[in-house]
This record gives sequence, C-alpha cells and structure tokens, in this order.
Amino acid sequence: MKIARVERHGEIVLAMPLGERWIDISHAWQDYERVVEGVDAHSLREVRELLARGLFTRAFHRRVMEFVQQQGIDDYDVGALPRFAMPLRPGKIIAIGRNYAAHVRELESAMPEEPIFFGKNADTCIGPDDAIQVKNWYGRVDHEGEIGVVIGQQVRDARPELVQAFVAGYTLLNDVTAREMQKRDIAKAQPWYRSKNLDTFCPIGPCILLREAVEWPLELELEVRVNGEVRQKSNTRRFLFGLPELIAHVSKHITLEPGDVIATGTPEGVGPIHPGDVVEVASPPIGILRNSVIEEPTSDALKPQA
Ligand code: MG
Repeated sequence: MKIARVERHGEIVLAMPLGERWIDISHAWQDYERVVEGVDAHSLREVRELLARGLFTRAFHRRVMEFVQQQGIDDYDVGALPRFAMPLRPGKIIAIGRNYAAHVRELESAMPEEPIFFGKNADTCIGPDDAIQVKNWYGRVDHEGEIGVVIGQQVRDARPELVQAFVAGYTLLNDVTAREMQKRDIAKAQPWYRSKNLDTFCPIGPCILLREAVEWPLELELEVRVNGEVRQKSNTRRFLFGLPELIAHVSKHITLEPGDVIATGTPEGVGPIHPGDVVEVASPPIGILRNSVIEEPTSDALKPQA
C-alpha cells in the first residue's frame, strides 16, 4: 500500500498500485464520491489533502480499489511504469544527524547522547528522475540515502510510546551534502546549514508507503547505489535512536505538522558523487529513488525584473 503522484495525460494525479499497474486514484475517488456517495467532489491531487481528510489509510485504499475493480481498471490505468513526480512538498524537513553508529565512526564524529537534528529547506526537494545539480566550486558532494518519515497529524511534546499514530508513512530521500563545505564550517564553529541546503540537494520519493503496510517498530532495508555499485547498505533496526525517541525528542522542541518529514539519518558508506553519475536510494517496499547528477554552470546573477 503506497501512494505516489504520477503524470497522466499531461497532468499530475495521485496513484496507487494494483498488482503490476498504477491506478489514478484522483479520478477514481472523484467517481466513487459521485456514484456511491452522491457527492460532486473535486478530485484530490495532493497527499496533504488525503492527510487533512483522514484518507491516508488502508481503509481508503481498500474502498478505492474495490470501486476500480467493479468499474474496470481501463479508465484509471496509468500503466506499470508511470513518470513519478515528487510525492509531496514537505512543510518542513527535520534531518537527523549521526543516527547509525558505523556512520558516526566513518566521519570520526562523537557518538550523540541525544538525537541531533537540523533543518533542510523544503524547496531543496526535487522529485524522482530530476537531476541533482552541482557547481564546480562546491568541492566534494556526498550522497546520504535515508528513510523519510511523513508526519500525518500535528505532534507536540509526544510521549515515545504514543508516536506511532502520528506517522502517515515512509518515503526515501537523499540528504545530499557538500562535505568539504560542511567540514570547513564545522571547523570554524559555524552552522552546517549551507552545505545541506544547496538547490536540488534533497531528492525525495518515489512514493509514500503507508505506515499500516509495515510492522512497528520499523525494520526497513536501505541501500544506496551509484552507477549500480552498492555504496550504503543497512537496516533501520540499526538506528541509534528509534522512531519513538526521534519523534518524541523533535516534537519536544518543535511542533510537527501534517506533511512534515523527518529524515532519519544515513548509514555508513557515504561517498562522493560527480556529474554523470546516477544515484539510487532503494528500499524494497517503497521503491527506488533515482537521480542523475549534472554540473550546473556558474551563471551570472539573476537580475530583478524591471
Ligand atoms: Mg543525513
């Protein structure tokens, strides 16, 4: 059970898989509401709308798919390999640093005594198949494959044993990092904000796996490949801080809203990427987030419009 945004007839619609096919649930749900409920509803296009209406659930999935199978899938079939768009534009992205012991050791960092978190701007996000753009003055740029937790309901000061209900689902993201820039800034005791927030430095997708589709506590495989070569391979069971502690800790400081994303940290094996590379972040139940790397020429500054 997962939800994506895909291209169909030149527009972006919400979609869910049915066997090998992806189904346009934006139009299927609109038809369901008209035919079954007698309501003339607008078609839902955003994950955020599903969250707001309490429809990001197994029950919604079942109702839509039963309707589609009764009507025949032809009207809603998006095919087996649609073009995926960014599954959602997060409200905010809270990224966890140093959450796998082997990664802490490879960066020669100190083991954290409590979760470390920092912000990534939502407008650094790009979708599956979009290109990560690097400039030649960035220095070394690294991949950091991570599991992203999509928040479903407002969370403030949550107790660890109660956080599960606030999670809508899971996606993949790449916390792309300008590593040399980050190390220089840390050495000068400056924030590492800029090295994490360069344009295009947060690929996300290809879809969101419903929380109800997997066991709790979370045990998801995570693998990162560059040009087909495995660079990172781990499992979320190796988290230093599990989701209950992470969400409780973050929500003690910052209120989380529906559509916010927590990037749960990257395992060992981070390494450089270069123009021409193709980076894949993969987790079998979620899918593969694939992005190429291109060099963006340094251009003259944009001039304001007259
Ligand atoms: Mg990271």
